[in-house]
Amino acid sequence: MVTRNKERLCDWSGCSLYAGPCQFIHGKAYCYDHYGPALEKHFLEAYAEWDGHTAPDKKFLNLFSRYVEDLYKERDTPGGLSKGRLNYRMENLRKTKNGLNFSIERHKNAWKHPENMHEVVQRWSFNIKQRKLKLVCEKP
Ligand SMILES: [Zn+2]
Repeated sequence: MVTRNKERLCDWSGCSLYAGPCQFIHGKAYCYDHYGPALEKHFLEAYAEWDGHTAPDKKFLNLFSRYVEDLYKERDTPGGLSKGRLNYRMENLRKTKNGLNFSIERHKNAWKHPENMHEVVQRWSFNIKQRKLKLVCEKP
């Protein structure tokens, strides 16, 4: 049975607002105000548990990609890294002093100029304190 969100309160401690219709994070429901902070909290917990070099599980990848998407929702995500791209194409994740690094294969010109399409591998770094993604390098 699907739990109707209009009957469900925000799971953020001390909050008495109703959860939004799409504001679920791994079984917990949040109101619009707490969805962002809750994503960050869940991600930081998963990050703390991760050993930093073995491939993180699906839950971690899901949290990280949603967290990044939420951080950049007012602006464009750098390099057009959508939630879906991050979730399914991130590889070689490593913990760093400031956050994490990952590689991702990109298809340049795939939409605008398919005849010039070529693949590159980008290495990105995410800084937890600054909440920012930065392109480290790009290789053919
Ligand atoms: Zn709330």
